[in-house]
Amino acid sequence: MQSAQTGNDARVERLIEWLRDAHAMEAQAESMLSRQAERIEHYPELKARIEQHIRETQNQAKLVESCLRRHDASYSGIKDLGGKMMAMGQAMGGMMMGDEIVKGAQMGYVFENLEIASYEILIAAAEAVGDLETKKVCEQILVEEEAMAAWLREHLPKITQDHLTRLATPGVEAKR
Ligand code: MG
Ligand code: FE
Repeated sequence: MQSAQTGNDARVERLIEWLRDAHAMEAQAESMLSRQAERIEHYPELKARIEQHIRETQNQAKLVESCLRRHDASYSGIKDLGGKMMAMGQAMGGMMMGDEIVKGAQMGYVFENLEIASYEILIAAAEAVGDLETKKVCEQILVEEEAMAAWLREHLPKITQDHLTRLATPGVEAKR
């Protein structure tokens, strides 16, 4: 660990807070993505990409945890629980909608961009305090978030059109 990092440096404390926020965000991402993947029946490409990102997300949570541990800090279980409950609410809300596949992909794209912003902030903060290991870890995670955001953006038109095609086909389920 670099000499710039000491327990009573207010900047490091802020970095640790942001790492805890990121950990809570990843916990929320995992439950949200798991709910989505479980419910998808007729959109196998989206389901497979979400399942890939669930595995990435689980690893991201561990990577963020490793950054907290190097600072001798733990993640906040209370915040994680809040995140999980929020994700559950969102997923349940989704079940009520006939267009849940489209809304889910839309919300997924929004969430990935929230993650991108969070890791950009963490990278800048880690650099500012000289925590180059955290910077490296967050840069690695950022690549996966950007790839997921780009995939969702690219596939939103096809998901939308597939949904509409199914909607127009008698006897075919379109919502998920
Ligand atoms: Mg993530
Ligand atoms: Fe993500």
